[in-house]
Amino acid sequence: QEAMVDGERGILVVAPEAATRAAAAERGAEIEQRRKLAESFRLKPATMPNGEPVAVMINAAGPDELQTLDPAMCDGIGLVRSEFLFHDGARLPDEEKQYQAYRRVLEWAGQRPVTIRTLDAGGDKPVAGLTLDDEGNPFLGTRGIRLSLLKPDIFRVQLRALCRAALHGSLKIMLPMVAVPSDLARGREHLDAVVAELQAAKIPHRRPPLGIMVEVPAAAIAIDRFDADFYSIGSNDLTQYVMAAARDIATLADYADAADPAVLSLIARTVEHGRKTGRDVSLCGDAASDPAIVPHLLKAGLRTLSVSSASVGLVKAAIAGALPE
Ligand code: PEP
Ligand code: MG
Repeated sequence: QEAMVDGERGILVVAPEAATRAAAAERGAEIEQRRKLAESFRLKPATMPNGEPVAVMINAAGPDELQTLDPAMCDGIGLVRSEFLFHDGARLPDEEKQYQAYRRVLEWAGQRPVTIRTLDAGGDKPVAGLTLDDEGNPFLGTRGIRLSLLKPDIFRVQLRALCRAALHGSLKIMLPMVAVPSDLARGREHLDAVVAELQAAKIPHRRPPLGIMVEVPAAAIAIDRFDADFYSIGSNDLTQYVMAAARDIATLADYADAADPAVLSLIARTVEHGRKTGRDVSLCGDAASDPAIVPHLLKAGLRTLSVSSASVGLVKAAIAGALPE
């Protein structure tokens, strides 16, 4: 049997008819044109039609995926999901293993800023043997910073490795799923303690800035209660919590729209808080990789986006207003 796959839309057609084939050929040509356009933007700095610059960073799931990428394509790494180090049922990564992994990421980036997020296990990212498996609704459960605060020994190993790796580049640490100011305050206390420990033991280290993900509506709505060094909006979770539509249920995809006015108003609110207090605000959820949503994000005031490495060219073209309607 002949079959046709549309990988972008997630569609498989078995034994396509002539009309379907013709439509696919047309779409294939469009995609090829868009790919060429994206390629022409990939290594250039991103600017809006009025010449205003926009920082385009990339999201990374670990050092391995960076090896084939040219750092010149981005203004840094806006999100490293450190979950890549924590595997189902496996032994937890020790400090040395984590240090080496973070160091590789920082060395790849050179002087460009790198934001590494502390473990965000739980929710859609369960880790057997680590996350709690008796919760009825894991998305509203013990995930992200909540789990780290519940297991401070594991959290501190990660913070120690991060402070040591910080000597090898421009590192920032970010806490996921912050919902109340005490999440940040308690996270900061652990960082203080780790820095004091390293100092006392004369182990070379640096204390990186400490920021938060803005992905729980409570944080976005009352953002002025959170005295973080920087903010990064997690539109995947923010959208699912605002719209009450789980991010992993495909049939609810229409609800899970980051361009919904309710979500955009929280994004704009966070941007405004950053502007008033002089702190960086970026967005690192999937919405930033979607060229159709990028104009909404720019309109909400964002000037730093962190996107999948595969979509850098397309996002830069969208920022420049160069994509056909
Ligand atoms: C987000 O929630 O938008 C985000 C970037 O984090 P993750 O997708 O890892 O939950
Ligand atoms: Mg998230």
